[in-house]
Amino acid sequence: MVHPIPGSGIAQTYLIVDENDGMMVVDVGSVGAARAVEDFCVHTLMRSLQAIRIIAATHFHIDHIGGIAALLSKCSPKTVVLFHPLVKAYLKAHRPLSPMRNWVTGLFPTLIAGGFFGIRKWSDLAFDGPAGVPLPFFCDCQRVSYWGRIRYLEGNRLPRSRIGFGGWEVIAAPGHTEDSVVFYNEASGELITGDLILGRQDGRGYVNRFCWDEGQSQRTFSALAETLRVRIIFPGHGPVIWSAENAFQKVGGGGATGKAQCGRYCRRKAADENGQPVVRSRR
Ligand SMILES: [Zn+2]
Repeated sequence: MVHPIPGSGIAQTYLIVDENDGMMVVDVGSVGAARAVEDFCVHTLMRSLQAIRIIAATHFHIDHIGGIAALLSKCSPKTVVLFHPLVKAYLKAHRPLSPMRNWVTGLFPTLIAGGFFGIRKWSDLAFDGPAGVPLPFFCDCQRVSYWGRIRYLEGNRLPRSRIGFGGWEVIAAPGHTEDSVVFYNEASGELITGDLILGRQDGRGYVNRFCWDEGQSQRTFSALAETLRVRIIFPGHGPVIWSAENAFQKVGGGGATGKAQCGRYCRRKAADENGQPVVRSRR
């Protein structure tokens, strides 16, 4: 079962509990997120952080990895950090992070619609270090203190493989960044999407326009929607997207606000074949 961690700050942190395999945490984006995980484990689940076996990231951006060291320092020495194989090249070979597009049309509307995401306290803006900032200036800053604890997903086992935790699988999902992955549980129909899909306040979702390759994001989204059976999408930012039949049906255009990119689509629908106006769907 996936628990969205309350008060996890900029990105949404998720804690997965498996009755046989303990706990796994996905996307610990700040020191504040690490504290929020501890709070939730100890006070809500009444469990020790020692039960966390894996800390994973959907992609190597600071708002999804910036609290891993803080959390790891309180976990068992056996806890491992799970990254995409490309992260090895970021950390060891100075490979630059994926250059990002649509800062103005993709990122800012999302920031504003989300009330500048979930920033509520200073620790939401405190990070382990500058690793994971997707700007060329930070290319030489891609270092983490816990490199000995990292287990890289094996390139030859992606695009889809089991991760050795309950029924969870990891699936390569390039688009937002080259190293993006999603985590999927077929039995429960749960999908953790990172920043490929974001959630809106109206319970729907949209494919993130702030990305490395927009066409690739769309292709990845279509491929996932065609092959997976998903009831609940847990996005990297915003509320969960839920549907008893198929949660992908609730993901479409409309961007962060549900209006900005809807215009063309709605106008096309509004003048249908018979020239009859069509009732505008609220998207
Ligand atoms: Zn993010």
